[in-house]
Amino acid sequence: MPDTFTGPPDAAAAAPPGPLTKAPGVFADLVGQDDAVATLRRAAAAAAAQLRQAAPGGEPAADPGAGMTHAWIFTGPPGSGRSLAARAFAAALQCAYGTGCGTCPGCHTTMAGTHADVRLVAPEGLSIGVGEMRALVLRAASTPSGGRWQVVIISDADRLTEAAGNALLKAVEEPPPRTVFLLCAPSTHPDDVSVTIRSRCRVVPLRQPAPEAVAEVLARRDGIAPDVARWAAAAAQGHVGRARRLAGDPQARSRRDAVLAVPRRLTGVGAAFDAASALIEAAEAEAAASVAELDEAEKAALQTALGAGGTGRGAAGALRGAQGQLKDLEKRQKSRATRAQRDALDRALVDLAGFYRDALVAALRAPVAPVHTDAAALAEAGAQKWHAEGALRRLEAVLECRAAIEANVKPRIAVEAMMLALWKG
Ligand SMILES: [Zn+2]
Repeated sequence: MPDTFTGPPDAAAAAPPGPLTKAPGVFADLVGQDDAVATLRRAAAAAAAQLRQAAPGGEPAADPGAGMTHAWIFTGPPGSGRSLAARAFAAALQCAYGTGCGTCPGCHTTMAGTHADVRLVAPEGLSIGVGEMRALVLRAASTPSGGRWQVVIISDADRLTEAAGNALLKAVEEPPPRTVFLLCAPSTHPDDVSVTIRSRCRVVPLRQPAPEAVAEVLARRDGIAPDVARWAAAAAQGHVGRARRLAGDPQARSRRDAVLAVPRRLTGVGAAFDAASALIEAAEAEAAASVAELDEAEKAALQTALGAGGTGRGAAGALRGAQGQLKDLEKRQKSRATRAQRDALDRALVDLAGFYRDALVAALRAPVAPVHTDAAALAEAGAQKWHAEGALRRLEAVLECRAAIEANVKPRIAVEAMMLALWKG
């Protein structure tokens, strides 16, 4: 027996130095996305290895197939965590340990949105314009100030205008060596992302997380009581953010209750039009509340920047310029308000679709959990009255309404047509 026995080689000693790998890290909040997280971890490790090779006296080249590339698309249904995944990956790329430890300055500033080399583009209106995209592409080509990567996250790549898409394509086709583009879109359908951009990107598909996984994270991370978390996770149909709002915001809950009351209220033509008005107005009110504070803050900031008042020489010219800027701001704010209204209305339609889906499931006696556990009795009553065919027709009417609004039919017209269809069956 040698008296200096040291035991088996320690696996941890071979790994890059870092905090405990058991720490939750930047990927912890990606609910039910194990495959995607594994892919992103591998890519981040490969990216870190690339940087080490590039360093003077760097280590020899590692496995070239380890999966780092310059352009990525994160796809998945709303609420599955597309932009969360993109941001976590950006943090892992900027992480001092290449793992997304969650605690180093690179991780921390990226997650907080203050890292100098990570830019986020989120359209506030209905589209991302070419001017914004050109400016972004130009800045993304500069050398990363932190010595790692320039990361550009485009959170709704399906809202790029055609011209903006072309500007982005040029950059994605010939990426500067240290630039990484992370695009988020509902799918890789050509309506969402152009075929040419798609062909240059690696796709990370995210799934709709199971309600159990959503409930677990609400309870663990947000400290929500387990039974409330389970109810909210089911009602939100896999949308993590929506589940959290339902669990914590009484107004979100009462808006949902109003939507679920719609089927009972449809007793005639007049009632159908009333219900349509109520739904539209509720969406407008919700949207107005969500943007009001930001609108005011922006306006105040602009007025301060422009030095409201002033009577000296040149004041008249400055005033004309100021009016132009104020007009631009108002235009942007109007566009954002329209978007917020559409989002609010769409959430209501998703809730309503869930109700008719529950009625269909009840009529078919399918062994599937209801979406709206607290409205199960109502759905059962609907199933008795409409049978499977009637429930299916109504579900289709709601889905057609969503599709019509998506295709730019005026929301009020689409919602009125839907309410009439729901009443007539
Ligand atoms: Zn880190």
